[in-house]
Amino acid sequence: MFTSLSGRAVIVTGASKGIGRGMARRFGAVGCRVLVVSRNAAQAESVAAEIRGAGGQAYAFGADVTQPNEMQSMAEAAVAAFGGIDILCANAGIFPAAPLATMTEADFDRVMDTNLKGTFFAVSACLPALKTHRHGRIIITSSITGPVTGYSGWSHYGASKAGQLGFMRTAALELAPFGITVNAVLPGNIATEGLADMGADYTRSMTASIPLQRLGSVDDIANAALFFATEEAAFITGQSLVIDGGQILPESLAGLAPESS
Ligand code: NAP
Repeated sequence: MFTSLSGRAVIVTGASKGIGRGMARRFGAVGCRVLVVSRNAAQAESVAAEIRGAGGQAYAFGADVTQPNEMQSMAEAAVAAFGGIDILCANAGIFPAAPLATMTEADFDRVMDTNLKGTFFAVSACLPALKTHRHGRIIITSSITGPVTGYSGWSHYGASKAGQLGFMRTAALELAPFGITVNAVLPGNIATEGLADMGADYTRSMTASIPLQRLGSVDDIANAALFFATEEAAFITGQSLVIDGGQILPESLAGLAPESS
């Protein structure tokens, strides 16, 4: 049994959809007060309303992680609403495919600005509030793509996701004296709106390459984030956790076990 997180103030970026929405709902369900953040404020509000409808406490805030001033306003809104910030889930991210042969500087910058610089801006904005407790938690959504695997068309994305881990390790060192831990979840292929946009063929081939024979759910990732947020995880920092149904394990598809008969 884990110590209750009830009353903890949580910010989740990229929470209007997908993994972030799953995280926001999960933290809301265990009694945390949640600020649901995305660029589309109306969609964020519908997730906040869903959490309130289930008996939780949540507000929505429209902000773009690529804009440091908007991240500042987001942190101020959380402090105004909750009196502080205990947990930041830096989750917002994009994954538009672009083969190297045709990738433009603008393609590269857009992915880096959102996934890597956006993580930096969200963390920086929340630091003053996180430092006021001895139990601050930062949970970064990275990916298996980049830190562990490669995938054609996603060199910029892989670089951004690997970059998040480099950022995390030094941030974990700098923030340890304040009792703040910084860890990362590395999802494999998770059924989200963003993944659905990749098309049915992509989803089919990914499912076929996962030993546990299904795509991950947003709850699979939210549960891992929740664990990093607990008191019981207080001595874990600078670490990453792969949540992928075993997808990175086989050396080739021939290494997958045959269908059980
Ligand atoms: P998604 O379904 O496309 O949702 C992305 C969320 O991020 C939305 O709420 C979106 O809302 C928000 N967002 C995008 N750009 C933003 C910005 N500049 N500022 C603020 N919010 C922004 O994506 P997902 O599949 O849940 O992915 C979430 C995270 O998990 C990403 O970091 C992604 O790299 C990572 N991940 C996903 C998978 C997967 O299989 N799904 C696998 C590995 C890693 P707005 O558009 O309204 O801003």
